Amino acid sequence: MLYTFSNTNDALKRAKEILYESRIYDGLLDLMKWDMSAYMPPSGREWRVESSTYMSKKQAELFTTDESHALAEYLHGVDRSKLDTDLDRGVVRRFLHIFDRSTKLPLSLQEEISDSHFRCDAAWHAARSAKDYQIWRPALEEYFELKYKAAQFIDPNKHPLEVIMNTYDEDLTVEECGKLLGELKRGVSEIMFKVVPACQDIDDSILDTFYESVADVDALIQYQDHRFGYTADKASFAKIVHAWSGTVGPRDSRVTTSLGNPGLDNLFTGAHEMGHSLYTIGSSDEVVKAGIWGGMKGSAQESQSRFYENIICRSPEYWEYFYPFVQERFPKLRSVDKDTFLRAALKVKPSFKRTSADELTYSIHPVIRFELERDMFDRKLDFKDLSRVWNDKYEESLGIRPANDLEGCLQDIHWTEDFGKFQSYPMGNIFDGALLKRVLVEIPDFYTQVSQGRFEDIHTWFGKNIHQYGFTYPTMDLMRRATGGEIESKYFLDYIRNKYYTLYGVKD
Ligand SMILES: [Zn+2]
Repeated sequence: MLYTFSNTNDALKRAKEILYESRIYDGLLDLMKWDMSAYMPPSGREWRVESSTYMSKKQAELFTTDESHALAEYLHGVDRSKLDTDLDRGVVRRFLHIFDRSTKLPLSLQEEISDSHFRCDAAWHAARSAKDYQIWRPALEEYFELKYKAAQFIDPNKHPLEVIMNTYDEDLTVEECGKLLGELKRGVSEIMFKVVPACQDIDDSILDTFYESVADVDALIQYQDHRFGYTADKASFAKIVHAWSGTVGPRDSRVTTSLGNPGLDNLFTGAHEMGHSLYTIGSSDEVVKAGIWGGMKGSAQESQSRFYENIICRSPEYWEYFYPFVQERFPKLRSVDKDTFLRAALKVKPSFKRTSADELTYSIHPVIRFELERDMFDRKLDFKDLSRVWNDKYEESLGIRPANDLEGCLQDIHWTEDFGKFQSYPMGNIFDGALLKRVLVEIPDFYTQVSQGRFEDIHTWFGKNIHQYGFTYPTMDLMRRATGGEIESKYFLDYIRNKYYTLYGVKD
């Protein structure tokens, strides 16, 4: 059958239907993944992998039909500036984005990537056991070359890292990202070297001993989320090995917390995952109907989770409101005043592990990984030197050198799956600095509200400026609109410098 589209309205209608159907698959796949990490018995694994692969294939087929090819051709010719609404522009952009990524790779290359991924993953585990990066290297290099090749198939005219990065952050360029993250790393490193001496003698042992049972901390996390208005009618909680948030439907998101993270850190993880969930269930009804509900992936997502985790829950104002509740539930804290507790909770200590880094030093870890990725794709980094260059960068920015590869370049699983993701965490922080600046203009008593446990205005602000749009705008565009200006690193640096200098009495 030959498909033709005679007018833009018909084409848009069909694009929305196909995107809507695709989101149904996304939801089901997330539900299967969430169940797999939370409840599925180990014996279910084989069938789950098979059924998830089948569903992904069915989803991709939505975009590979003759009709979708004809639709993509038509939509390529549409002058987007002449469309009636931003929503329609978003639909065209999203359809073509997914279409390109579903159709441009030859099947043989997709199969090679899939096989290579399993070898890369197995070699990574073997290398971790031996604490030796060189065991991983051949498989990693092979996987990288296939990803490089795939990026060139999708868009030969773009920086290959940018092509991959755009899967998550659609309109972020390697150049802009490199500039922003370079400034961030230098700025944070400078602040860190001043703050560390001021807090190195602080005793933070109370963080390991304040609770008798992990269940009490879990109850506190749920209590915290409920106080945020994330109540049982829209939230579901589970505890798994590595926390993440699943999105099953436009009004159904699943929050998880980490099994391996029993204390206060998990409270912050709970707030982080709740931030993701609020974003993904916040699309307007018309965005849901258009099939582009949820929320941008990557940096935009991280800006939302990190705002709740760091800007709110790690603020002294938040603890003015929350600490009395915590003291009431944990008797050992009744003799510890709020400021002493907070100085222990936010203590800055350079460490090797990204996932357990404190708020201040955190940004440096993923920026180092982004820089390494950029060098890989620019052919400036020989894979045999990866471990040494990694360690050099840690020494330069954090003042510490990993003693082995397990502490160094073998710690993250990301590169066995994909590249172009690490920028999302520090870019999320940069966005948060700019968002906070805007929030303080539009909600001048924001911190007073936080100190009183009032979060309605901030929820409403994010709902109006970010959440309602789903995928309507790509990341940078969305953030420029929400913040009302250019995105710069200095706002986040101002925020973090002010907070940590004040908390630990550092003179500028
Ligand atoms: Zn996150």
